[in-house]
Amino acid sequence: MIQEVIPVGMLQCNCYVLGDETSGEAVVIDPGDDIERIQEVLSRHELTPKYLIATHAHIDHVGGALKLKRLTGAPIFLNESDLPQLKMMEAQAAWLGVQTPETAPPDGNLTDREIVGLERYPAQVLHTPGHTQGSVCLHFVPLKLLIAGDTLFAGSIGRTDLPGGDFNQIIDSLHSRILALPDETRVLPGHGPATTVGEERSSNPFLQTHQR
Ligand SMILES: [Zn+2]
Repeated sequence: MIQEVIPVGMLQCNCYVLGDETSGEAVVIDPGDDIERIQEVLSRHELTPKYLIATHAHIDHVGGALKLKRLTGAPIFLNESDLPQLKMMEAQAAWLGVQTPETAPPDGNLTDREIVGLERYPAQVLHTPGHTQGSVCLHFVPLKLLIAGDTLFAGSIGRTDLPGGDFNQIIDSLHSRILALPDETRVLPGHGPATTVGEERSSNPFLQTHQR
């Protein structure tokens, strides 16, 4: 599998490009900004995006999705519980002091346990609300790989003080859905370095002090 990470935009959101070198198909996760750089990675590997997926509708994760859709024709998928966030794009841009990116309603919903991704590299959607109501993680089961969005970071978790955030809910999502995965599962977060479920289980302070 082709796997590239492109930190995009002011908040350095990790945009992930996962591609099948045989079929030439790719999934682009969290195309928040810097679409030219994402396109450069796609063309370097001769990949055509099949899906554009946003783990949630914060500006740094979804801000470039419509632009990339217009350039590639690939549909945008997002959990519908984050539609309120998508509609708040002007406010989100104002928080960061950046121009409001153009957005449009997604082409499809990402429902819990739905299978997305590529034929050769399928992923299961885990609905993990808390950072936002529509936050999802993508679990590439055969690859033992989790794309975590802003739900889990190396040594930290997503903030819950923005609209739609709920601390108890993110802790519940982390315990019931993410810590349920095997320790060896590689975690690729929405910001910062990669980690594993086992590493976070044993050392992430947010997962120690709030045992269920
Ligand atoms: Zn976020």
